[in-house]
Formats: sequence, C-alpha cells, structure tokens
Amino acid sequence: MKVKALKGFKDILPDEVGSWQFIEATARDIFQRFGFSEIKVPILEKTSLFARSIGETTDIVEKEMYTFEDRNGALITMRPEGTASVLRAFIEHSLHTKKPVQKLFTIGPMFRHERPQMGRLRQFHQMSVEVLGADQPLLDAEVMAMAWSVLDTIGLPISLEINSLGCAACRPDFNNALVDFLEERKGGICEDCERRRHKNPLRVLDCKSENCQKLYKDSPSILDHLCQGCDDHFKVVEQGLTMLNIPYKVNSFMVRGLDYYTRTTFELITDALGAQSAVGAGGRYDGLVKQLGGPNLPGIGFAIGMERLVLLLQQHAEIQKKPKNDIFIAALGPAAQEKAFVITNALRKRGLTAAMDYADRSLKAQMKQADKLFSKYTLIIGDDELERGEGTLRNMVTKEQVGVPLGRGNMDLWSQELAEKLEI
Ligand code: ATP
Ligand code: MG
Repeated sequence: MKVKALKGFKDILPDEVGSWQFIEATARDIFQRFGFSEIKVPILEKTSLFARSIGETTDIVEKEMYTFEDRNGALITMRPEGTASVLRAFIEHSLHTKKPVQKLFTIGPMFRHERPQMGRLRQFHQMSVEVLGADQPLLDAEVMAMAWSVLDTIGLPISLEINSLGCAACRPDFNNALVDFLEERKGGICEDCERRRHKNPLRVLDCKSENCQKLYKDSPSILDHLCQGCDDHFKVVEQGLTMLNIPYKVNSFMVRGLDYYTRTTFELITDALGAQSAVGAGGRYDGLVKQLGGPNLPGIGFAIGMERLVLLLQQHAEIQKKPKNDIFIAALGPAAQEKAFVITNALRKRGLTAAMDYADRSLKAQMKQADKLFSKYTLIIGDDELERGEGTLRNMVTKEQVGVPLGRGNMDLWSQELAEKLEI
C-alpha cells in the first residue's frame, strides 16, 4: 500500500519552489530595510500559551489546534500562528532590555485543523512580523506600508482594509451596544453566535455563516464607540497611510479571528482566491505582552500567508519566477566530458549557476536540456573543439555564437575571464 501525505498537508515540489524563494527573498529584503531582525522559534509550545493569547473562545483555540499530550503527559500544541511564540521568546529572553523597540520577523509553518480547500491547508506557512515597545499611530501606518510594499514589490494587486477595535476603555461600551443588538435578533443567529453572544460578543462579527453576516450588516459600528484616545489614534493612522500614498478602505466589520487585538487591525485582501480572500492580516495588541507575563509594552504585527501568495503568483504568469541557469556545458565524447566536468565546477566556484549532462546524449538532446533549465548560455565542446582548444559559446536568447578558448591546467583564471565575458 502506498502511503500518502496527510489531508491538508502538501508537498512543495521543485517546480513551485522558485515562487516560494522569490516571495521569501523579496520579503526578507524589505523587512531588513525597515530594520527588522529574524527570530526563529519552536513549532511546539505549551497549549496554555495559545489559549491565553489567542483567546479561549476563538475558532482557532476552540476547534483548530493540533493539541496532544507528550510522553510525559504535558499538554502541547503545534503553533497555529507566530505572534504568541515570538512574544513568549521576547519575554523569556527579556529582549526589551536589549533595545527599546524590538522589530522581529519569523518565517515558517503553522498548523490548524481546518477543512482543506484552495488556499486553506492544515499545514501552511506565514511570514510573521512583530514590533514590540512602541505605540505611536504612525508606526501602525509604517507596518502596514511594509506589508503593502511586500505585495506591491512582488507585483500582486491587493487592497488594504483597516479598522479599529478600540481598547479596554471603550470596547465594553461597544460590546454593550452589540449585546443589545443581538438580543433583538437572537432567534435568527446561528448556534455558534448564540454561544458567542454570551461569552465574547465581538466574535459574532467574525462568523462565517452567510445568514448571520446578512443580519450583522445593520449592527452597531465599533468606530462610533471609540474613546477619544482610540479615535485620535485611528485618525493619525489614516493620515499616515495617506502621506505614504497607500490606498485603503475602512471596514468597521473587520474584527479578526484572534482576541488579542486592540486599536488598529488590518487585512490585505484579494478577490482572486474565492473565500480565501485574506492574504495577510494583523493589528495592534497593546495588552498582550503583559498578559503573557511580560512587561507592560505595546505591540503590533501581521502575518502574510505564503500559500495564498504562491497561488496568486501562479495566476500572474508575467511575474512567475523561473529557475535560471547561467551556463550549460554541452559535451560530446568522453574527453570533452572530462573537460566539461572541470569547467562546470570551476564556473560554479565563480558564483555562476552551471550544469552539464553526464548521460552522453546527442547535441540536440543536450541543447533541449539547456533550454529546459532556462540557460542563458551554452558552451559546446566536442572533439574538434578540444583539438582547437576553442569551444563554441552560444547565447541562448540572441542565438549568437562565438569561439572561446578552453583553457588548460589551472582553470581558476580561465573561469574568471569567462565569467567576466558573460552578461549574466
Ligand atoms: P481566514 O479568514 O482566511 O481563515 P485568518 O483570519 O484565520 O484567515 P490569520 O490567522 O490572521 O488568518 O492568518 C494570517 C494569514 O495566514 C491569512 O491572511 C492567510 O493568508 C494565512 N492563513 C491562515 N489560515 C490559513 C490556512 N489554513 N491555510 C493557508 N493559509 C492560511
Ligand atoms: Mg481562519
């Protein structure tokens, strides 16, 4: 019997890997320019970390976590998101004592037991970003600008939606208004929302049921219930985005699926992936570090889902990243192959991507292989070329061919000269 991968767990095959690397490299470059450092955290954490941060009544904690007892009977969970783990590490290593504002990012797999569909897997990958120790609204705009810049640089059309979820001072006021609103409609809402109505009313706005969503169109708007501080904060966030020329839309129904958010929340949305419309999302979480046992420091972050980005990239052939090969060495006959073996490895030492064929195929077959690898050049070496001491260098784009000396003995200098000659 063949053993297959688990449902919702996916292999990322070599064909696709170019897109992954392109996305990751683009993001790393941008994160670095904005002053972020990478942090790598474990995949397994104590279950209580997620229950305490994400919230007991969220979908993630209620139904989606991979939680089990380890061999010693301790309850552990495969991380469903990055923020909780990064904050745990931040607190455990007192990173706030090293820098007043820490800007951290992490890239890796997350696990949620959801119903798999396009853009929704049980193991998926996020690029997750956190800024800890600053509460200025212009920083919120900057963090959104960074997320925007990643998608914009990749070349994908995305829209930005923003909201404010208020703070501990004004949220109760909104909760009361929402509870009253729900009380009037209690017969019409789904079972989950009926439960949420009592335990965590804000969560109803995140309900996936179409019927509920229709009802909630008339629900009170959190933006009408913000306290002065939250209202001012939100206004400056909007001004900041305008100053940076980032187009956005205010969506007062966006509550996000995690309990820890305060004030600014945002989503990066596409209409090209059906129900899986959020490519990235995040927000401010000013009480969370303290709630997890750390100092009272504000924070803001976001996560971009990599699978959804890869899917979007596949829809945009014009920005697909093909693997490239600088030079293919086509060798005919055993003596030429020996020469090609040395040449190929000498060129790799020079930093070029070089490939050759060991199977003794015809010139035509080798040229095909060079094309398949998207080679920019092919260096052809047969017995004649060996005798003359000059190979034929073919530019695979312009089809132009020139003779190049094949060199002798120490190939280091030779490979340097050839590498300089090639337009890579
Ligand atoms: P959704 O509303 O689509 O369930 P979410 O609100 O659960 O998303 P977050 O927890 O904020 O998403 O995670 C941030 C990003 O991670 C999402 O915007 C999405 O791109 C990605 N993501 C979340 N869950 C999955 C999943 N099961 N499979 C693939 N990507 C995911
Ligand atoms: Mg979700």
